[in-house]
Amino acid sequence: MTAKTRLAGVFAHPVHHSLSPAMHNAAFSALGLDWAYLPFDVHPDNLEDAVSGIRALGLAGVNVTIPHKERVIPFLDSISDEARAIGSVNTIVNEGGRLVGYSTDGEGFMRSLIAAGGTPGRTVILGAGGSARAIVYALGHAGASVSVANRTPERAVELCRTVNSALGSAVAEPARLSLDLVREAELIVNCTSVGMYPSVDEQPVPAEWLHPGLFVYDLIYNPAETALIRSAREAGARAVNGVGMLVAQGAVSFALWTGIEPPVDVMEQAVLAAL
Ligand code: NAP
Repeated sequence: MTAKTRLAGVFAHPVHHSLSPAMHNAAFSALGLDWAYLPFDVHPDNLEDAVSGIRALGLAGVNVTIPHKERVIPFLDSISDEARAIGSVNTIVNEGGRLVGYSTDGEGFMRSLIAAGGTPGRTVILGAGGSARAIVYALGHAGASVSVANRTPERAVELCRTVNSALGSAVAEPARLSLDLVREAELIVNCTSVGMYPSVDEQPVPAEWLHPGLFVYDLIYNPAETALIRSAREAGARAVNGVGMLVAQGAVSFALWTGIEPPVDVMEQAVLAAL
């Protein structure tokens, strides 16, 4: 690194599990860019100071992740329409001292869904947390009709109200998870943490409800093959894990900072090696 090296990074708490430094640094190296990506463990009490530090230190931009994605918004100069609609920012771009917030999760999900051969048709979203909000917005924007089933039904109702009002049409509706709902679906997206390591035997939909006409997208990537993915494949359905979305949302952030589309295969290899 020299005085000319451009710096990006990630604000998280904790940060030690983040795969983003490996992913972005691999892409900088592959493109021969004099950039570096650093992990910053930012305690929630220090978030405002850390954001000021982006300006003070001249960072090109950062990712923000758990637990900062919502709380960071008041500290920014502006945010994209999508970030405002879903109330979440995962990427900050430093435009000459003006800090602009974006959410790249929805676009990352859509890019990886299409790359894996999925289509945004009749969709059941499992979960109503931060990732579900970004994905329902992106799917609704792409013209899909989306049913949202969540353990806490009120959160699904609230999510649908927020997204429908942001998009100005009734794309999303809250639903109770049932055999009929799954039978009619073309796409199921698991936006819950059910099945994540160490609870690897749990799955958010009964295996016997899955059918060959489904595309199952599990946002979880640890383990690489969740119980849901395994039962989907056994039922003859296509199924993918969350590595593709992780890489694609990173690629969208990378392009926002550098103006260059990164090599996603290099980023994916770096993620798989780090996992
Ligand atoms: P979040 O905002 O905390 O939401 C968690 C969701 O999971 C909520 O809907 C919650 O339901 C539900 N849930 C948790 N435990 C449950 C259980 N035992 N039974 C049923 N539902 C349960 O989390 P998030 O940020 O949306 O992340 C969700 C998952 O996606 C995590 O596994 C995360 O690692 C993964 N993710 C992956 C990527 C990627 O790039 N691949 C990106 C973001 C997130 P309640 O509302 O009832 O609590």
